[in-house]
This record gives sequence, structure tokens and C-alpha cells, in this order.
Amino acid sequence: MRRFFFATALGLLLMGCVLTVPRPAAVPTPTVSPPLTPTPVDAQPTVTPRSAPAALRGVTVDWADLNPYRRAMRPAFASDVDLYEQATRYAIDLTVDIEALTLRGVQRVRVTSAEAEPLSEIVFRLLPDTPGYGGSMAVGSVTVEGLRVEPDLRLDGSAVYVPLSTPLRPGETTELVLTFEGTIPTDPSAGYAQYGYIDGVLALPNAYPMIPVYDDEGWNVELAPTYGDAAFTDTSLYLVRVTLPARMISAASGVEVDRQDNGDGTATVTYASGPMRDFALVASEEYQMATDSVGEVLVTSYFFSGDEEGGELVLDYASRALEVYEETFGTYPFTELDVVETPTLAGGIEYPGLIVVAASLYGERGGFFELATVHEVAHQWWYSLVGNDQLDEPWLDESLTQYASLFYFEDRYGPQSAQRVLENTFEVPYRYIQEREQDMAVGLPVASYTEDLYGAVVYGKGPLFFHAVRQQVGDEAFYEILRTYYDEYRYGVAYPADWMAVAERVSGQELDALYAHWILGE
Ligand SMILES: [Zn+2]
Repeated sequence: MRRFFFATALGLLLMGCVLTVPRPAAVPTPTVSPPLTPTPVDAQPTVTPRSAPAALRGVTVDWADLNPYRRAMRPAFASDVDLYEQATRYAIDLTVDIEALTLRGVQRVRVTSAEAEPLSEIVFRLLPDTPGYGGSMAVGSVTVEGLRVEPDLRLDGSAVYVPLSTPLRPGETTELVLTFEGTIPTDPSAGYAQYGYIDGVLALPNAYPMIPVYDDEGWNVELAPTYGDAAFTDTSLYLVRVTLPARMISAASGVEVDRQDNGDGTATVTYASGPMRDFALVASEEYQMATDSVGEVLVTSYFFSGDEEGGELVLDYASRALEVYEETFGTYPFTELDVVETPTLAGGIEYPGLIVVAASLYGERGGFFELATVHEVAHQWWYSLVGNDQLDEPWLDESLTQYASLFYFEDRYGPQSAQRVLENTFEVPYRYIQEREQDMAVGLPVASYTEDLYGAVVYGKGPLFFHAVRQQVGDEAFYEILRTYYDEYRYGVAYPADWMAVAERVSGQELDALYAHWILGE
């Protein structure tokens, strides 16, 4: 997935703290089918079985109205929203009680199967309920087409399997409504402290039941390590209504399309997204803002009072990175990119249309502050717009994203600057593990590595694969590979074989030997 470490990979290694993280338990194979007979919402005959209970009527959405989503798109990309009209879509009402440190929500999700085989169940992941997020979340009632069903909970309750009475065939649509509630942690020790209310920052990434990718291996459901990224999801359209303290300034994936002051100290803000892979929200009373325009894209930096200089610097890094990457990879289709200061223990974390950067870096000038920022911006292409399995094949986004920082440093400061990043950030950590005979293949799941080795292999060695490809095919073909890969997989999901197929087709060269050496470790 998508973390970028707080220290450089070498710094982490030099800390000498090697944590052994147990491999996650295998996903249980469903040997017994869950009950497929839905329970009516209400047994009383006066209630029609297809009407949802009152608690589930909170979310109003006109699925046919695409205008809110188009507002999140640059004009040339507005019609991309239409491609997702029939896709799986989310409409979410979220209410935060900051005193009680709870959130509750109602989610309507219209699922259209893009799979080749009938689906007998729909799975939702509750990432806030996993150790890496440190909160809790549970679903209350679940209905399918208005009929209440009993979901099957797995992975300590973080995976919710909703049975369908009639399997959903390819291209068919069904609508589910879920209520859910959870606690908001204040303890910064879980994972990268990416989720919770910490140091006055309310960070709520993926704070809703999210549907994982269904692919050749079926539903991708596993408990992620507390390092690395946890989400692997398809692109959807999001309409999210969040009620939170009115004094909080909030940033989120997509664009704000409505804001109501409720007169009771709370406000309800509505966000609509373009085609995005997941949805994140960050809010704080402490935020100040600075903005920059990069063509049609509004880049907004949210930073704490007292961090004005860092807030302006991060805005500059992100804006220039956006320019360089648009030129190198292709156009960023959304109208906004938010860059948000948070107390995360990662250097930064990427979400669609929003990146967070660690508050602890805001006193720096250049260095890791700049590297972490431009890394997270590159993730907008690799992970967000072109998705991949961040748990099983993290190198496909992380190593490419790391490598992309060279383009920024070269464009901005010249080839010698890029060369220094190549040496210090990629080659030094790689040499370090080689010398200690800790070298591993790049193409392994996150859980195969210790946290330290994950950093050194996927963020240090992995980018050297892309460098080797670039040296073999030449700059011009390498840039063309990246542009073609982005063009063909934008909003989609790519697997390593897809990247290789594009690279070999565009370059006209055999790259198997490089892949075997760097990625497979042969
Ligand atoms: Zn990353």
C-alpha cells in the first residue's frame, strides 16, 4: 500500500530494531455457506418487507445525478464520471462525536458486478477495526434490496461477508444499506498513527465499510501488517456527508459540494469525488491554509499555526511535483489536491486527491521533507489512479513511486541532484542489506518482510529495477512506457504482468531477465 517511512530506509536500518511481525493468519475458506435466506426487516405485516427501517433512510442520493461528481473533475475529464455511473457507488452519511470519540454512519452502496462469475456474497472491510488503524468499527444492520440479512464476520470482525439470496450475475446491480459505528482512537501508537483524533487532528481515512477487489483469487481479504498499506479497492464514485464540529476545517478526497451549519455547534459538509479508489477525510480546528494553482488544479496546503513556513514549502514541493509528473506520466484528472499536516508517524501517506505529510517534518528545509512530499504526490498516479494489490504486490506502486522522485529532483535541481537521490535513497539501503546477506526479492507481499526490510527492499532495491529498465530501453522509451501504462490502466487495477506487457510492447525489448533478477530475485 502506501506508507513512506519516517526515517530514510537506511535510517530505519541503522536504528537496529528489527521487529518480527507474524504473518497474518490465512483467510479462512468459507466451507459452510452463510444463510442465504434474508430475514425481513420487520415481521409485522403492516411494514412492507422492502422498506428499510427508519435508521437506514438517512442517506439520500439521486444515483442518476452525476453533476456533483463532475465538479471534482477537470473539464476534459468530466465525462470520466459517466464511465462510473453504472459502477459500484457509495453514498455515506458520517457523524463524528468528538467529545465521545465515536463515529456512526449509514452507507448506501449500489453494487454492480464487473466480475465474470456470479457473486454469492459481497464483502466489506472495516479497516478502522484493524491493528494498523487502532480504532474499532462494527456494522449494525445490513439490508440487501431492503431486506435485512445477517452478515458473517471474519478476521476479528474486520471483514463482513454479506450473503445474497440470489447470486449477483455479471453486470447486475443490487443495493445494500449498512449502519456502522466505531470508536476514534487517541493513542498515537497504532501503526503510523494514521487514524484517530491525535494532537487536535481528526484523521479518518477509509472510515466506512469498503468493498475489496474481487479478482482471480476471489475476494482480496487479509489482515494487513501494521506497516505497509492495507487497502486494495476498485474505483468508485463517492458522495460523503460528514457531520463534525463546525469549528473544524476539513480536507477530503474529492470536492466540497455543500456545507450546512446545523446551529448546534456542528456542520454537515458534503464531498463528491470523481472516479476514486477510496475516500479520506482529515480535519482540525488548528488548520490554516495556503493555495497554489497548477493549471486547472487547486493545490491546498493545510498546516498548523506556527508552521507557516513549512506549510508554504510543502505547497511548493507538491505543486512543482504535480507539474513534473503531469508532464512525465500524463494529466492529473481532478480539480483538487490537498496536502495536509498530520501527526502521522510515516513520513507521509497517500490517499486519492489528498496526501498527509508528517508534522514532525515541517521544520525541515528540503531533505526528507521534500522527498516524502513528492513521493506522496507521485502516488496519485501509482496506487490512486492506477491501482494495484498493495498487500501482495506493494512494489508495483511503492518502488515506481520512489523511482518517480528522480524526475522531480532532476527537473528541479538538475541531474546531479537526481543522482544523489539514486545513490543515497536507493543504492545505499540496497548495499546495506546485501552486505548483511539480508537481500530479498522485491516482488513479495508486505507480510513477507520485516518492517525494516520492507523499507530497504521495496523502497531501496525496488526502484533500481525501474532504473535498470530505463537504462536498457533508453529515456524516451521509458517515458513512453510510463505514459502508456497510465493511459491504459487509469482508474483500473494493474498487476506486475500488465506493467511488463506494456514495457515490452512499447520498448520492443525482452525485459524478462531484468524482471527475474530484480523482482523475482532469481
Ligand atoms: Zn509510498
